[in-house]
Amino acid sequence: MWWDDQMRNARPGRPARHPARNPARPRPRVVIAGMGDTGVLVATRLSRSCEVVAIATRPALVSGQELGHRLTDLDQWRRHYLVPFGRFRRLDRVRTIHGRITRADLDRRVVHVETVDGAQLAEPYDFLVVATGVANGFWRHDRVEDLETINAAMVEASQRIGAASTVALIGGGATGVSVADNLARRNTGTVHLFHDGTEPLPGYHPRVRAWASQVLRADGVVVHPNHRAVVPAGFNGDRLTSDPVQWSTGQPPFDADVVLWAVGGVRPHSSFLPDTVLDADGFVRVDEHLRVPGHDEVFAVGDVAASDPLRCSARNWGAQVVVANLRVAMGGRGRRLRRFRAPTYRWGSVLGLQSDGLVVVQPSGRRARIPRFIARPLLFGVFVTRYLYGGLRREGAR
Ligand SMILES: Cc1cc2nc3c(=O)[nH]c(=O)nc-3n(C[C@H](O)[C@H](O)[C@H](O)COP(=O)(O)OP(=O)(O)OC[C@H]3O[C@@H](n4cnc5c(N)ncnc54)[C@H](O)[C@@H]3O)c2cc1C
Repeated sequence: MWWDDQMRNARPGRPARHPARNPARPRPRVVIAGMGDTGVLVATRLSRSCEVVAIATRPALVSGQELGHRLTDLDQWRRHYLVPFGRFRRLDRVRTIHGRITRADLDRRVVHVETVDGAQLAEPYDFLVVATGVANGFWRHDRVEDLETINAAMVEASQRIGAASTVALIGGGATGVSVADNLARRNTGTVHLFHDGTEPLPGYHPRVRAWASQVLRADGVVVHPNHRAVVPAGFNGDRLTSDPVQWSTGQPPFDADVVLWAVGGVRPHSSFLPDTVLDADGFVRVDEHLRVPGHDEVFAVGDVAASDPLRCSARNWGAQVVVANLRVAMGGRGRRLRRFRAPTYRWGSVLGLQSDGLVVVQPSGRRARIPRFIARPLLFGVFVTRYLYGGLRREGAR
């Protein structure tokens, strides 16, 4: 096909005329597998120049961000992180199929989908973007759901945690730290955070890790370093529990009203892909341009992509890299494929927006605090709504 030639010749040479601006060319058909944080970004950026078909397990963006806020201030969280697709102006031209990909035939360039109604569809593509994320705890999964089910599960989890007088968080990654601190700041019972190192937040700069320990303690979290929990056999952390937690590091069992397991152990949503494109842990292999080796028309991005040791392409503009490279492949803007560059350390907002503002930690270990009165309009009004999504309709507008 015409854009296959473009893809092969992508690096050197002049770009050809973009198909969207050249009526003689058909619009390339891009299938986006998964409409979470990164899939939505790719879809909103391609919808005007390509025929985009998006396969989504839910009828809304259910962001993987800010679990702490989601559990402690669900109404506020929903406002920014649970966004029905009808609110995205730039998804108007996207055909969204509510269902799940069951198989991708990369040789024939077709994905097989089971829709929410049980119908079986075969969707051909010129380009495929895999953004199906990972399963993690009870809050990230690949079940096909409607909005009512999504809401009911969220309300149940936040009510259960809100009613507990002792909460145990197992795991000192960004999720465990964020939930522990948000709960403690809202004075919902006693909050215990258990982690198996000396400082929480592995993968972050040492200065950030030391800062997080201090903040947690100052906010009233009881921090228990050097505790490695025994994960019950057959359990993968996908529900809240209340049995005493046992430790392989020798401490006595710990009893809490509610235990939230945030022990990492993420499982990639990649079973619909052939093993040949997966690494030993099931993540999708990609090159520096986020293309799947051996399949120049297939890209992977977000938590499912084995882009770097931290698999951090979601928050490091991987979606934009994929969009730029698709445009090159289609003969549009830019001559060279863009490289994905991962920082050595994780960065971002760990605690989310608080009454004293938003702290963003940097890969260098520095921190920037944006005051709340600026952060709210800047982050949600300008950055998220306008820049990231290209415009959102008001809640309930559609
Ligand atoms: C702009 C931005 C800023 C961020 N900032 C932060 C931050 O400050 N702090 C932080 O901790 N993290 C941050 N993150 C990262 C975030 O926590 C996760 O990395 C991100 O949610 C992962 O996105 P994803 O698209 O890979 O997966 P998800 O958002 O989980 O989306 C995957 C979707 O694919 C669906 N799916 C799965 N299997 C199938 C299938 N077979 N067929 C169809 N659909 C399927 C899933 O159900 C899900 O809906 C940020 C991310 C972005 C994009």
